[in-house]
Amino acid sequence: MPPVAPLYSFVIPLFNEEAVLPMLLHRLDGVLERLDGRAEVILVDDGSTDTTGIFAAARARDDARYRYVALSRNFGHQIAITAGLDMAGGEAVIVMDADLQDPPEVALQLIAKWREGFEIVYAQRVSREAESWAKLTTAKCFYRVLKALTPIHAPDNVGDFRLIDRRALETFRAMPECDRYVRGMFGWMGFRQAAVPFHRSPRLAGETKYGWLKMIRLAFDAIVGFSDAPLRLALWLGVAVSGAALLYGAYATMLALTGAAIVPGWASTVVVLSFLSGVNMMMTGVIGAYVGRIHTQVKNRPLYVVARAVGFAQPPALARPRTGASSLAS
Ligand code: UDP
Ligand code: MG
Repeated sequence: MPPVAPLYSFVIPLFNEEAVLPMLLHRLDGVLERLDGRAEVILVDDGSTDTTGIFAAARARDDARYRYVALSRNFGHQIAITAGLDMAGGEAVIVMDADLQDPPEVALQLIAKWREGFEIVYAQRVSREAESWAKLTTAKCFYRVLKALTPIHAPDNVGDFRLIDRRALETFRAMPECDRYVRGMFGWMGFRQAAVPFHRSPRLAGETKYGWLKMIRLAFDAIVGFSDAPLRLALWLGVAVSGAALLYGAYATMLALTGAAIVPGWASTVVVLSFLSGVNMMMTGVIGAYVGRIHTQVKNRPLYVVARAVGFAQPPALARPRTGASSLAS
């Protein structure tokens, strides 16, 4: 008998989450029982080095609703989500964090909105308890900059916690970029989108897996992936600097003509030179950032590599099929 496709898929990335895993599974069980259709939970192990993989795989073996997939190393949150989405078989797919900052019960509200006909339903934080002042402030500044620089509609206070309809999922799967900013990609897609407000709780246990470096990387991917404003900046800066140089030239000529120019000028030469080479270097860097992305894309490597999978009816592809698919036995 062919396996019956689930109605709902949950995609949950896990990176060293042994401290929250038991509670996560317990809360999920409660939600799964209240659903009006079959569901599967895909636990994506993003290269955990603790016992996360052992317990998640055990659950996938014992409980037919759970699946476990281990990536071959830590590929990062956004890629882990992508891997889970590639494997989801549901009509509606819910992406959420493992640390219970995204309460699984909110999924029921997301589903209710989906039933009203929305293809993308995102959970919008109305409060963020117990997050550090630094995280909140930097997040706020970042979203403001992003909004100014990119034309895509990215709603405020929205992370990756959302429900995606099959149609939007197919669109997502067709998007090949290597440096991924998942929430931006869903914003770009359009479709009918709706918000469900929720209170973001503090992380239940364990520590954040998003250090400053990972956050900066995400911010960078968002800006460079969705905007060419930094490239245009080079043009405007060039115009401004040449304008200033012209004015200065006129001033110097005037001094020379009136005979007031006495050689010195060392300080101004050094200032102008170093300023210009600074601008130059910065702009080479900006261009480098875009060229780097082209380079990554052109290499055409798979986005992730699957090391192991448990509990799938059909073994998932070893890697995201880009130039050719290969399969993995479970
Ligand atoms: N995560 C992941 N790979 C990483 C970093 C994080 O799969 O390299 C997962 C993590 O296990 C969690 C989610 O992404 O389920 C969000 O991470 P975290 O809660 O640490 O981020 P924060 O909420 O502090 O921004
Ligand atoms: Mg968290």
